[in-house]
Amino acid sequence: MTESTNISDQKQIFGHPQGLFYLFFAELWERFSFYGMRALLTLYMIDVIFQALAERDYATAAVYASYGSLVYASTVIGGKLSDKILGMRNSIFLGGILMSIGHFVLAIEDNMAFFLALSLIIVGNGFFKPNISTFVGTLYEKGDPKKDSGFTIFYMGINIGGWVAPLLCGWLAATYGWHYGFGLAGIGMLTGLIVFWRGIQKNVFGDRGLPPNEHVLEKKVLGIKQGILVPVLAVLSAPLIALLLSSYKAIATDGMFADQNIVNVIFTGIGIAVLAYLAFEMYKANSKERKELFVAVLLTFFMTIFWGFHELSGSVITLFAARNIDLEGIMSAAQTNSLNSMFIIILAIPISMMWTWLSKKNWNPRTPYKFGLGLLFAGISFYVLAISGGSANDSGLVPFAYLLLMYFLLSVGELFMSPVGLSKMTDLAPMRLIAFIMGVWFLSSAFAFQIVGFIGKQLAIESTDKNVGGFETLTVYTDGFMLIAKYALGAGALVLLASPIIKKLMGKVH
Ligand code: GLN
Repeated sequence: MTESTNISDQKQIFGHPQGLFYLFFAELWERFSFYGMRALLTLYMIDVIFQALAERDYATAAVYASYGSLVYASTVIGGKLSDKILGMRNSIFLGGILMSIGHFVLAIEDNMAFFLALSLIIVGNGFFKPNISTFVGTLYEKGDPKKDSGFTIFYMGINIGGWVAPLLCGWLAATYGWHYGFGLAGIGMLTGLIVFWRGIQKNVFGDRGLPPNEHVLEKKVLGIKQGILVPVLAVLSAPLIALLLSSYKAIATDGMFADQNIVNVIFTGIGIAVLAYLAFEMYKANSKERKELFVAVLLTFFMTIFWGFHELSGSVITLFAARNIDLEGIMSAAQTNSLNSMFIIILAIPISMMWTWLSKKNWNPRTPYKFGLGLLFAGISFYVLAISGGSANDSGLVPFAYLLLMYFLLSVGELFMSPVGLSKMTDLAPMRLIAFIMGVWFLSSAFAFQIVGFIGKQLAIESTDKNVGGFETLTVYTDGFMLIAKYALGAGALVLLASPIIKKLMGKVH
């Protein structure tokens, strides 16, 4: 074994391998670019790309949903290609380069460039996001108790990026113009890549993240080396995805595909195929595996409902902030996108300490109860926005405190579900299906954006008036939020009621 292969011999920082901190900063900057851009995306489509359309809210909701669905679905393919061919390091470089090009193309104000830029970010994220997350896990030996806290530190990095970026990109966009905001997102992504490259130079990753074997990149398919073919195909897929994104109009006005665009139809197909495959695997499995697999699918389903409401933050809630929240002297609508991450940074450590404290007293709730409570928190958070209309001023603007409280509650819900669920997936999936189940877990975010799109279209306001808002839009949003609150509270209550049964199915898994 050479010196470089042994991570445990290397310098530790706060008891963690130093490689973790390179991944922490690389992911921090990647999420900086991702969330800086996301903060501007809906408002940019409304104000620039679709500004001439009366149904610009509808078009924006549709494109936002397709983008979100594809940006998370691509991670399944990116993860697979990394396992089989590229290895995590190459995948992270390829993904990061494509994402930064995407952000810089977004700085060009042109409709076709816009769709192409989103596609480059979709493909890039597919290579970057799953692989940097798995990379963290490989820095620890199997069963190392430090791994969970390593992931908590990593989750903090994600949210530091998600907190700072909307503030800076939002400020740049408002002060100097949209393309400065998008440009800064691109610079953020490049910074992430430089950090990762420095880590490799300093040899902090040992032998982790290399391709599965020495020959795989050289192996030829269709006469081209795989190491070249994958990046070439990745780049070539971008214009095709751009075409999908730009066909945001509904396929039919009535019948089966009413109100659906081509991306919605593709996702219906993927959903059916994934469920059919899971049913087949459950049929093949033994009774213990079958129960655990069933619980993994249930938890993923609950997570999809939660993200479906949570991910409204970049679309309907940003619009609500722009049109109906009194932000005077506080922040811009784009900047409100930083609030979720801010609360995650404040709450992540106290909540994880709370679980440890409750565990010591034997009171730590089992996973399904945490999920039920998480959905209840989401419900209450939307209830807060729903009743905010009662405090509207003469211009139909509600106090900022409602939005702050809403994000606080939603972030508590997120911490009851997202990190807990991620670690349960690794416990519940049979070894042979672990990568697939992780893929399905990421797909929960992809499907969630289909819910986001559906709600966004329902709450679309028809107008080309730049200053649409006030009482004209207030009740559309608050009525919508009330309905969401009821669904989330209902879902949470059902999960809590079913928890004793789910708990039994989980056996020893906590
Ligand atoms: N906020 C987390 C991240 O950016 C999770 C987002 C999601 O899966 N929808 O990684």
